[in-house]
Amino acid sequence: MTSADVIEQTLARRGYRLTGPRRALLVVMGTLGDHFAADDVVGAAPGVGRATVFRTLKLLQDLGVVCQVVLEDGSTAYRLAPDEHHHHLLCVECGEMRDFSSDDLEAVLAEVARRTGYTIEAHRFEVYGRCAACQAAGA
Ligand SMILES: [Zn+2]
Ligand SMILES: [Zn+2]
Ligand SMILES: [Zn+2]
Repeated sequence: MTSADVIEQTLARRGYRLTGPRRALLVVMGTLGDHFAADDVVGAAPGVGRATVFRTLKLLQDLGVVCQVVLEDGSTAYRLAPDEHHHHLLCVECGEMRDFSSDDLEAVLAEVARRTGYTIEAHRFEVYGRCAACQAAGA
């Protein structure tokens, strides 16, 4: 899991410094587990207004240190992001979320771009399944 400290270092390397309530929100997000809803952040940061929470989530997404995740039911959650392109693996049993990346997957997209003439600017790829621990538990 990516911690708030690591993210602050990433931002600092890019010359961006979080201050005041934004920094406080990042620390709160680091305590909310591997993914969280916007309302979880609102609830865990009573001193910060709802609008500030939403603005900060948007800012952190734009800076590439928080990513949006679509859950199996179609609802949106957020997650602290590693400093590289990645996708998400979500256990539908226990809710654990992991990041992964795959050169093969990116190669398929490059091939799709060649074949269709599209330039691919973004893509989303979430995988839902059961983690090894949940399978071992007979879930
Ligand atoms: Zn992510
Ligand atoms: Zn699991
Ligand atoms: Zn990708």
